[in-house]
Amino acid sequence: MIKFVDLSREFKQLKNKLINDFIKVGLSGQYVNGKNLKKFEKIFSKFIGVKYCVGVSSWTDGAILVFKAMGLHKNTEVITTSNSFIASCGAIIASGLKPVLVDVDETYNTNLKIIKKSVSKRTKVIMPIYLYGRIPEDIFNIKKFCSQKKIFLIEDAAQAIGAKIKNRKAGSIGDVGIFSMHPLKNLGVYGDGGFITTNNAKIYNKLLLLRNHGLKNRDVADSWGYNARLSDLNAKFATTKLKYINKWNKRHFKIAQTYNKYLDSSIIKPRISNLKNSVFHNYVIRLKKRDELKKFLYKNGIETSIHYPIPIHQQKMLINNKIYLPNTEKFSKEMLSLPIYHSLKDKEIKYIIDKVNLFIKK
Ligand SMILES: *Cc1c(COP(=O)(O)O)cnc(C)c1O
Repeated sequence: MIKFVDLSREFKQLKNKLINDFIKVGLSGQYVNGKNLKKFEKIFSKFIGVKYCVGVSSWTDGAILVFKAMGLHKNTEVITTSNSFIASCGAIIASGLKPVLVDVDETYNTNLKIIKKSVSKRTKVIMPIYLYGRIPEDIFNIKKFCSQKKIFLIEDAAQAIGAKIKNRKAGSIGDVGIFSMHPLKNLGVYGDGGFITTNNAKIYNKLLLLRNHGLKNRDVADSWGYNARLSDLNAKFATTKLKYINKWNKRHFKIAQTYNKYLDSSIIKPRISNLKNSVFHNYVIRLKKRDELKKFLYKNGIETSIHYPIPIHQQKMLINNKIYLPNTEKFSKEMLSLPIYHSLKDKEIKYIIDKVNLFIKK
């Protein structure tokens, strides 16, 4: 069986280093707000190319802190895409804000043309999702538009650690970048985790307070807050894994290129732009007979997945809003994610390609 993801393979590779990390953090006696969290933040801010990084308990918690730190009023509109993981919209709702869900184009990202149609006086945030690890090609135009209109640009970089465009990394372009280190992301920890990146000192200082009960120090609170910290243990593990991320992302890219080259030409494959702006968190193809192919591959020992079978605007909480997003709805019925992870073996990739192509020929 070729699993859709096999985390135990990576664990086996890193086992000794991780055990060492566990011993070091254990002996430090600091398990939250400790020196390993500080070190993580220093190293990750440098990696992304921003002044500040704040480790948090998950992307979702991080997003809630960010909305709070921006001081947005209730019912402020946040523009984002429907073709995403439920959390990107959930965090907007949990913050008492109004999601305005927009469509995507053939890159599975949104673009400025689509966004502009949904901008209103109440729009205060635009949050493009860097879906499957890809930065939108017109992100700098989106940024310019945001600055002109005094709208915050939040990068949902949950799937895009290390993704680059014109030498800028995901998380260094907007006002704020939010990342997930859920185990299934390109750099995952052992449990939940995430981090926020920014160059804005005011937002940064608020985030530090908000993540730790609003406390300025042990006893004095500056505001109400949350408990949304990244543990020192996961911070340490993430710091160790960061040493591999460029290599792993390159491997993802290579696998995507191989799929693109050898999969049957009747399949719609991701466009690999010469900007190389994707780290291929997922490799997504499209075809009419998606469900049959999925079954066929499973019978042949290949696990696949769908990102995402139900667009957020069609979940039962929003279905009454009667939003119509043609691409999102069409794609949700045709998309299929093939296995892509750095420990996937060449012979497994070949096997997957052979089986997909066999299905098409039949
Ligand atoms: C995974 C993911 C999230 C949520 O991340 P958590 O760390 O699990 O809260 C948000 N947005 C996108 C695009 C994601 O893929």
